[in-house]
Amino acid sequence: MDCLFCKIANKEIPVELLFEDDLVVAFKDIKPIVPIHILIIPKEHIESVADMSDKHETLAGRMIMVAKKLAEQFDIAGGGYKLLFRVKSNGGQEVPHVHLHLLGGGKMSENIRVA
Ligand code: 5GP
Ligand code: ZN
Repeated sequence: MDCLFCKIANKEIPVELLFEDDLVVAFKDIKPIVPIHILIIPKEHIESVADMSDKHETLAGRMIMVAKKLAEQFDIAGGGYKLLFRVKSNGGQEVPHVHLHLLGGGKMSENIRVA
């Protein structure tokens, strides 16, 4: 399947992985909109949160816990951060493979697009 994030998850496209386990990988966003901008994605191809079902409950929880741990590792947990899922076109989602944005490293705007 021709999916950019599948290629990253299965290492067809080499990127520095910040985290990997049986369900997810995490890596830096190529166009960071805040000083710390990390994407946590499932290894399984799922287009968006709208396509997830009850069988993905463990995966959904894992993504959030990995984001939390990366926030601690990157030293932004104390000040706080933002976790963001864009969902389909009205949500502004551009890459059709589920990804959780971990955004931090400063006070953020309430404007969700600029973070
Ligand atoms: P979306 O708008 O779908 O929520 O976010 C997609 C994100 O993926 C954007 O922040 C964009 O910068 C990031 N992105 C797109 N292509 C690549 C890539 O090839 N590598 C990395 N590391 N990030 C990417
Ligand atoms: Zn995919």
